[in-house]
Amino acid sequence: MPYKDLEKQREKNCEYMQAWRTRNKEKLQSPEYREKAREANRRWADRNPNYHSEQGRRKLYGLEPEDVQEIKDSQNNQCAVCRIDLDSLPPRRACIDHCRESGKVRGMLCLSCNLRLGWLENNYDAIDMYLENYEITKTRS
Ligand SMILES: [Zn+2]
Repeated sequence: MPYKDLEKQREKNCEYMQAWRTRNKEKLQSPEYREKAREANRRWADRNPNYHSEQGRRKLYGLEPEDVQEIKDSQNNQCAVCRIDLDSLPPRRACIDHCRESGKVRGMLCLSCNLRLGWLENNYDAIDMYLENYEITKTRS
């Protein structure tokens, strides 16, 4: 029986599944069941290729698929840094970029640019210091 409160529904589902797993411990460990479950998961993932990215964006950033499309449209469907066509990327390679301090969504990037931007943000001071030292050394020689 569905609950109106989603948290309550989740809690009840969790309790039910824990009891089911306890009752079916041996079945769960059998290789036949595990293979069957793996195949069912694969079929489900094939039917729902965007499920995890949509759920993740909803949970992490409060973005619905229409919001993501709006961001993509505002960037002409291109990575905000390197301008690669976001639709040409393999699944899960178009990323939502957000400010780590405020949590605010800044735009969409390809995975490559998103990883490099994160690295750059983590190492900005060290890079700045390195380049400053290089400039000092260069002017001395
Ligand atoms: Zn890019």
